[in-house]
Amino acid sequence: MNAILSYFYDWVNVPENEIDPILGEFEDAGAKFLTLVDGYGKMFLQDANVLAKWSARIAAHGLGMRSCHGLWAGIYDLVWPEGVDKDSGLDAHKHFMREASICGSMNYTVHTGHTPAGMAAEEGYKNIFKALDVLLPEAEKCGITISVENGWQIDLPVSIQKIIRHYQTTDTPLSNLGVCLDIGHANLQPGRVYEAFSLLAPYVVTSHLHDNDGVSDLHRQPGTGAVDWSFVAKALAECPRLQTVENETSALRLKVPIDNLCHQFQSLLG
Ligand SMILES: [Zn+2]
Repeated sequence: MNAILSYFYDWVNVPENEIDPILGEFEDAGAKFLTLVDGYGKMFLQDANVLAKWSARIAAHGLGMRSCHGLWAGIYDLVWPEGVDKDSGLDAHKHFMREASICGSMNYTVHTGHTPAGMAAEEGYKNIFKALDVLLPEAEKCGITISVENGWQIDLPVSIQKIIRHYQTTDTPLSNLGVCLDIGHANLQPGRVYEAFSLLAPYVVTSHLHDNDGVSDLHRQPGTGAVDWSFVAKALAECPRLQTVENETSALRLKVPIDNLCHQFQSLLG
C-alpha cells in the first residue's frame, strides 16, 4: 500500500515526563508519522506556540505529521445550528487547519456530529453544507483536504455519500473534499464495512483503523475484534485518492505496547 501510516495516541493524557520516552518507543518501532490530534488543536487555540513546539519535539525522534484530526463536538461539529457560536467554531477550524497544513498535514478530518433532538435531517444537511461552504475555500488556500468522517447517525456512509454528491452538483472544486473512512464505526452495523467501501471508495483520502465486537465503539487493536482486516487492507489499497491510513487504537487506555501496535499495523498494511 502506498498510503502513509500514521498513529493516534492520547498525548494530552500522558504526563509531561513520559512523552519523550513514548516518542522514542514509536521511533524504535519504525513509526514515521503521528496524527495531529484535536487535543493539540484545543491547546493551540489558547497558545499559538504549541504546534511549532510539538513539531520540533516529534521531529527530534524522526517523526512527522501528515494527517490531522480536526476539532470536534459541540460548536465544532458541522451539523451545529447557525447562530449559536457556529462562526467561532468555524473560525477555530480555519485557524487549526491552516497550522495543521504548515505542520505537514495533507488532510483534516471533521465530524458532521449527530442531529440534535428536534432537528429534521434535511435541516442538519443544510447546516453541514453551510459549514463546508466556509471551510472548503480555506482548505483550498492551505492545500489541505477536508475529510468528512463516517459515524453511526447522520454521518452513516450513505449520508457522507449524500454530502459528496451535493458538492458534485456545485462549482466547488472537489479536490479539497474527501472522506475519512472509520472502519471501527462502519463495523457497528452488519455488512456496513462492505457498504462503506462500495459507496465511498472513490473519495476516501484517509482511514481510521480500529476494531470492535460489532456492538460498541471500543477502539481496540486491529485483529482483536470482528472486522475482516484482509478485506479492508485490500479495499483500502484500491482507493484511488488514499493519502494516509491512521491507527486509531486507544493504545494508552488499553495498555497496548507501542512496538506491538506498530509492528502489527505495518504487517497488516504491508
Ligand atoms: Zn475515527
